[in-house]
Amino acid sequence: MSSAISQKPKQGGPSMSDEESSAGVESRISAPDLSCPKCNHLLPNGLGIITCLMCKSEVKVEHQGTRKKWREEKIGCPSCSKVLICGVDKRPANLQCASCQTHFVLKPNRPKIEVSCPSCDRKLRMNKRPGEREITCPACEAEFKISF
Ligand SMILES: [Zn+2]
Ligand SMILES: [Zn+2]
Ligand SMILES: [Zn+2]
Repeated sequence: MSSAISQKPKQGGPSMSDEESSAGVESRISAPDLSCPKCNHLLPNGLGIITCLMCKSEVKVEHQGTRKKWREEKIGCPSCSKVLICGVDKRPANLQCASCQTHFVLKPNRPKIEVSCPSCDRKLRMNKRPGEREITCPACEAEFKISF
């Protein structure tokens, strides 16, 4: 006689299909989009001393409004789903859940952008990154370039 051991499927909070599902949460608040004063390319998103990826010049970016929003951002604990107030005005921020004591990292927001394929008009969502990128449309396989 054999008895099947019934296993409960693990309940793992909100399901994340993103590549980064480890103990980390992405901030929903991004810093303002700024262009490099020297080369006019998009700067990486963030506050503080930002290094332009294109011309390597260092640009000081400060924005009190973003700092305030970062401090007041509400985040769901990745472990127990309790809503926490961040209280830290920088990203990434190391946080600890007051309820379940889990440590996790609140990661910087990665701004997304929607571009449409010049060939089939399909909308593609991607991370916004400075510089020129070659894109292959997943629908019609047309290749095109975008730059910020
Ligand atoms: Zn630059
Ligand atoms: Zn928790
Ligand atoms: Zn296409």
